[in-house]
Amino acid sequence: MKVLVINCGSSSLKYQLFDMDNEEVMVKGLVERIGIEGSKLIQEEGDDKYIIEENMKDHTEAVSHVFDALVDKDHGVIADLSEIDAVGHRVVHGGEKITKSDLIDKEVRAAIVEYQKFAPLHNPANLMGLEACEKLLPNVKNVAVFDTAFHQTMPKRTFLYGIDYKYYEEDAIRKYGFHGTSHNFITNKTAEVLGKSVEDLNMISAHLGNGSSICAVKNGKSYDTSMGLTPLEGLVMGTRSGDIDPSAVTYIMRKENLSPEEMENILNKKSGVFGVSGVSSDFRDLESAAKEGNDRAQAALDMFVTRVKRYIAGYMAEIGSCDAIVFTGGIGENSIKIREDIMAGFEQFGIKIDPEKNNVRGGCHVVSTDDSKVKVMVIATNEELMIARDTKSLVEA
Ligand code: ADP
Repeated sequence: MKVLVINCGSSSLKYQLFDMDNEEVMVKGLVERIGIEGSKLIQEEGDDKYIIEENMKDHTEAVSHVFDALVDKDHGVIADLSEIDAVGHRVVHGGEKITKSDLIDKEVRAAIVEYQKFAPLHNPANLMGLEACEKLLPNVKNVAVFDTAFHQTMPKRTFLYGIDYKYYEEDAIRKYGFHGTSHNFITNKTAEVLGKSVEDLNMISAHLGNGSSICAVKNGKSYDTSMGLTPLEGLVMGTRSGDIDPSAVTYIMRKENLSPEEMENILNKKSGVFGVSGVSSDFRDLESAAKEGNDRAQAALDMFVTRVKRYIAGYMAEIGSCDAIVFTGGIGENSIKIREDIMAGFEQFGIKIDPEKNNVRGGCHVVSTDDSKVKVMVIATNEELMIARDTKSLVEA
């Protein structure tokens, strides 16, 4: 079975075609600047790089170019589009209506539309990608895999905000959580590596990348997570503020006479380690700047590490017992120093990282000492594969 996985951002589209008989990626690609002058498709298969530079006014045109690239005589990997058996779509927000991946039907579509209110850049783009596939591949089934779905098992004590209950009842204002596909993948992989059934697994999944979130997993299910109504809450991220006193937000809005949209833009795009350091949102740049003595870059790194510690320790107490702390995402998989800094201080609880074992990037490794009370691990996440797996099993069922 061949499954195409599509991940539409507001002006971008990432795709991978999987051969699900062996779970191998046949080809992958990216379309940038959709709806902006200078659109570009880059498709890669091994050493072969195929580039289409042509303006694409919307996601429908982008999807159409993706299909052209997949069947291209010289650079494509399939002879005909009929070889695609199903398409899996990443969708950001499914609210309370969506608790698992699903074949597209009226209700799923309605949920994508309804929760645009909390994901105004992403859900409309996800819907456009979906509609383009329905139009161009009318006989193929589409599956939606939601970032929020994994977290729908959170209890009220972790998902409610401390505001008038009417905002939850009337407007569905609550914590939803994101990166669910990644946390779900990591949970399953950890159970497999530890030889435990998922239902018996308690763990902390730390997805640290441009966007970062931590998930407390109890009995294989999401019990708490650091992102909230939107992906803005929680850790300090590349350009997102994370947790902040709401009064700071209203103060800045009043002082600079900002609209809600302008303030959201500041909190999402101009804050985080980028805003604090004034250097970059990329942790590699921050680490070199800090090494050269840049105080603000060092402060940004220290803030990031401190918040990750705070969430991990708090979540361990919430779930009662913990089998593993797992690092994933661009930073979690690659930054040896940040993992070391985060775990410093956990020795008092008998949790110890082994500096030699921790000297790894990506893959799947236990990096704690043999006598550590909780296993610390590095596991490379694979959200696209998780989407392809869900798509395959739903279409087969
Ligand atoms: P996204 O959230 O966009 O999927 P990723 O998970 O790919 O992002 O993470 C990208 C981030 O990972 C980069 O911005 C960078 O900060 C960090 N990163 C990647 N490689 C390294 C490295 N070797 N050392 C430190 N940080 C790294």
